[in-house]
Amino acid sequence: MRRDIIDLFACPICKGDLVIDFISKEDGDEIIEGGLCCSKCKEHYPIENGVVILLPPDTR
Ligand SMILES: [Zn+2]
Repeated sequence: MRRDIIDLFACPICKGDLVIDFISKEDGDEIIEGGLCCSKCKEHYPIENGVVILLPPDTR
């Protein structure tokens, strides 16, 4: 995912803002592997193969 579209995503649990938690692999502005973190409920969402996995933990 591109860094600049993070604003388009919101936490599916609490609708809070997501922030980049860590980046383990990136390509320019593109995050290939990493994780997002909700600024409100602190839930983590992984980024795998450039795609954010925005599912609540209990449905994975
Ligand atoms: Zn949240």
